[in-house]
Amino acid sequence: VVDGEQDDLQGVPTLEEIQRHPMDDLLRGERLPHIWCQGCGIGTAVSCFISALLRSGLDLDKVAVVSGIGCTGRVAGYIRLDSFHTTHGRAIPFATGLKLANPELKVVVFSGDGDLVAIGGNHFIHAARRNMDLTVICVNNFNYGMTGGQMGPTTPTKARTSTSRQGNLEHPFNVPYLAAAGGATYVARWTVLHARRLERSIHKALLKPGFTVVEAISPCPTLYGRWNRKAYGSDMFEYYRQKSVIRHNAQPWEVDIDLAGEIICGEFVDIERPTFQDMYQKLHPDVHPSEDLGLLQRPPTELDAGFEVARLPTLDTERDVTQVEVGSLQTSAVSEAKHTEIRLCGFGGQGIILAGLITGRAAALHDHLETTLTQSYGPESRGGACSAAVVISDGAILYPYVTRPNLIAAMYQEAYTTYHGQLAEGGLLLVDADLVHPDPDAGQCVVRIPATRIAEEELGRTQVANVVMLGAIAAMSDVISAEALRRSVLESVPKGTEELNAAAFDRGYEYARQQKSE
Ligand code: SF4
Repeated sequence: VVDGEQDDLQGVPTLEEIQRHPMDDLLRGERLPHIWCQGCGIGTAVSCFISALLRSGLDLDKVAVVSGIGCTGRVAGYIRLDSFHTTHGRAIPFATGLKLANPELKVVVFSGDGDLVAIGGNHFIHAARRNMDLTVICVNNFNYGMTGGQMGPTTPTKARTSTSRQGNLEHPFNVPYLAAAGGATYVARWTVLHARRLERSIHKALLKPGFTVVEAISPCPTLYGRWNRKAYGSDMFEYYRQKSVIRHNAQPWEVDIDLAGEIICGEFVDIERPTFQDMYQKLHPDVHPSEDLGLLQRPPTELDAGFEVARLPTLDTERDVTQVEVGSLQTSAVSEAKHTEIRLCGFGGQGIILAGLITGRAAALHDHLETTLTQSYGPESRGGACSAAVVISDGAILYPYVTRPNLIAAMYQEAYTTYHGQLAEGGLLLVDADLVHPDPDAGQCVVRIPATRIAEEELGRTQVANVVMLGAIAAMSDVISAEALRRSVLESVPKGTEELNAAAFDRGYEYARQQKSE
């Protein structure tokens, strides 16, 4: 800036302002990047929803978003509102409970076709029948994307999927017809190519009382598209462009989708009907429904007391995790325990389960300790959280599951969020430095290991990040000897990759030793 130019810059947005996206306030930036594939349409549907919500004037403190399971189910995790990622097919009953307990809330169910009209199909039609005051945004990509592209209840007849390779024999559900037959007060369908119309319909649905449904036809190029010669997002958009026609007020039973036919879009239902809450209030004008159901001001029960007792302790430290000095970590809780619990966690594809197997093998076969290994992973074929839990003891193990790990190695934010609260007092938490942002208020001792970065930039293979982390574990804890762990790595990895994995282990070990000694 030279003399006289400062004034000219007044009103010019700063770099930070330019870099901010108008929707940033409603997105949980710390959860990004998202897991959706290139060309997927779910992000467009989310964008339309946020835009409609901001325009609606609704009090954002009184908006709740509920999702089920699946690619679209991830929406709840990315939206910065009171949001709930529930179990498969149960988004609508969960949302119903929220609405009954707090009628002031605007409750939005944002989920996929498989979740809403297959596993949750009964909930969908009965919520419509009751005219429960909910807005449902159903992202329909014609298959189960998250679990590998299986045929679902909306897969068009003759369409190919991973479980209907010769073509689907079944007739698909027509989502608008299902909603309308149930009694929904507003029903619309758009493809995500019709982004502005989709946004307007969501806006209308948000402001209209009763069970309102917007179906967003959305591309899944990775799976549905690949099986049906539309492997790119652009192919799917071209298909929508060619096949979709707008026909407002079409009879819902006329808007079936078949493989070669039109995709009829528009507003199909817009009616008035008393909601469940309206009728309840009429019957009991002086009673808040949640009071009647005993949902408000519930007196404490023995269960609550039990919950308090069961709550995990937090460490007596106020250190900011970003400033923890590694050399001062109290790893004694790990090294002195005769019974040690280790949890390795991350997302599918990071080799977490293999890392658990390597750890267990090292302890059992080479250090001659008692060991158990349990694994958990979601139904997702990609991107889902997974965990390998290892119990190591010099005596008999009477209970094989990990409940209070002394050591957690988290290689993904969601896995960290899920498990870090379990860490035993004085325990050690290793995180991938680039993929996990630990909660500075958690009061836990955290060591940041750039495992993925080392694997990618120094060793040229992201796949060995798990072994880099195992090397770091060997350096930071003496529950298992480094020799045993290294030997176990070499015995467990695919033939021909031993050298690379040995280098990964050594680099992780060396990095952590260096951190510990500084
Ligand atoms: S699998 Fe399909 S629906 Fe799921 S994120 Fe990828 S493109 Fe989207």
